[in-house]
Amino acid sequence: MYIIMVTSECAPVAKVGGLADVVQGLSRELEIRGNAVEIILPFYDCMRFDHIWGLQKTYSNLKVPYHDQQVPCDVYFGFVDGLKCFFIRPYFYKNFFDRGILYGHHDDPERFAFFSRAALEFMLKSNKHPDIIHCHDWQTGLVPVLLYDVYKYQGMSHSRVCYTLHNLMHQGLCGPDILRQVGLDPAHYFNHHQLQDDHVHSAFNLMKGGIVFSNFVTTVSPRYAWEIKNSDQGYGLQNTLHTHAAKFGGVLNGIDYNVWNPEIDPHITRQYSLNHIEDKYKNKEALRHRLLLRQDMKPIIAVVSRLDHQKGVNLIRHAITYSLAHGCQFVLLGSSPDPGINHDFQQIKHRLNDNPDCHLEISYNEELAHLIYAGSDMLLIPSAFEPCGLTQLIALKYGTVPIVRNTGGLACTIFDADYAHRPYNERNGYVFNDLNNEGLESAMRRAIGMWYIYPRHFRELMENGMRCDYSWNRPGSDYTKIYEYIKE
Ligand code: ADP
Repeated sequence: MYIIMVTSECAPVAKVGGLADVVQGLSRELEIRGNAVEIILPFYDCMRFDHIWGLQKTYSNLKVPYHDQQVPCDVYFGFVDGLKCFFIRPYFYKNFFDRGILYGHHDDPERFAFFSRAALEFMLKSNKHPDIIHCHDWQTGLVPVLLYDVYKYQGMSHSRVCYTLHNLMHQGLCGPDILRQVGLDPAHYFNHHQLQDDHVHSAFNLMKGGIVFSNFVTTVSPRYAWEIKNSDQGYGLQNTLHTHAAKFGGVLNGIDYNVWNPEIDPHITRQYSLNHIEDKYKNKEALRHRLLLRQDMKPIIAVVSRLDHQKGVNLIRHAITYSLAHGCQFVLLGSSPDPGINHDFQQIKHRLNDNPDCHLEISYNEELAHLIYAGSDMLLIPSAFEPCGLTQLIALKYGTVPIVRNTGGLACTIFDADYAHRPYNERNGYVFNDLNNEGLESAMRRAIGMWYIYPRHFRELMENGMRCDYSWNRPGSDYTKIYEYIKE
């Protein structure tokens, strides 16, 4: 099959969160399975150009119909981790992708609506006829709408669209101008069954458009699929998902074991495997050395996360105090687009500056993340909601025991050491229900107790985690079946 991913992120060149990892990992798995895969991204000025091989202009002066004009774009081609990527760069037009960061601008809906139109225009003009166009999140929600409304009549009638929802908190609400500018008649789509938002009745909802007009819709874990259809986690899209339930399902994400694997990881101090777990402790030493923590007989509890309310920032704050008061060291790597949250954590950092058991790194640092996964004993993920979550899957592979809240993909992958309805050899972490300090402590207390009092049992949990297979193999097969199903 010929598959084109249209996406706003792809690791490691343009990454804000898990979406980037998913696009990279899934694309690679689909290629291994013999498919031809291409990825279309915006040409961001802030990309990691050092991860693009052979970047060169491949298509000059692509004229994208937009707002009664033809906006000229150049399209660049390069390999990212062996994957074929095209980068669309509009020139002299509003600097859409020359903003230093990927998201967070007042005109985000306009930027990505333009990108959606440009991606399709590029496919048309360069004679690409993919069997499957796979779009992701609200940023590319207009792709299936435009295919249905415009490009189907220009020779692209054969392509089918799979649309994946990575996070329903962001749905891309906008006014009619956004549709008009990309060449759609807003009046035609402004109704409850199509793009009208169910909460803000005056707004258009780009993610809703993606759901309605795609041939199949997935989200990133079976539990999250249930939650967004049946609870307020759907943020207003529950009815739409019920209406389209026959073409909707959850496919649990995988992680790329070429990137996240302690046996081959170039970013860690000592590589290790299930059979040589002792070597993990060289990384613990190295992590302490790097972050100026004292060497002591204490577990390290870590957080690697975007810092926002989804990720349970209040509980993360509480976990710092709780860990330090209960004989643990605490390491945090995280950052937030919200300056208030960053400032808050900077203050905590300042307060704990001289504490030899705590280090907060308020930044985004891919390399350090690898060493933290390898060098820590436990990884804390106290999310309010979590569509899939990749960090717990990474932690498992690195023999770092996850402590998670019972929600979304965390609930699908982490099985409590004491209470899971699973055989002992499948239990791999600690899970709590209540989104409050008491809930968090109920799991942390058990995890810390196990580390100190029953180290052999703790080691079994680590080993159970390392034995799990959360590679892309299974989701790759699930997505292949979905593509084949909609292609018929
Ligand atoms: P989300 O997509 O909601 O942010 P996921 O768990 O799906 O959360 O994916 C998070 C990804 O981003 C993981 O690969 C994690 O290692 C990475 N990550 C998050 N915060 C940081 C950070 N501050 N520095 C480096 N990597 C980070």
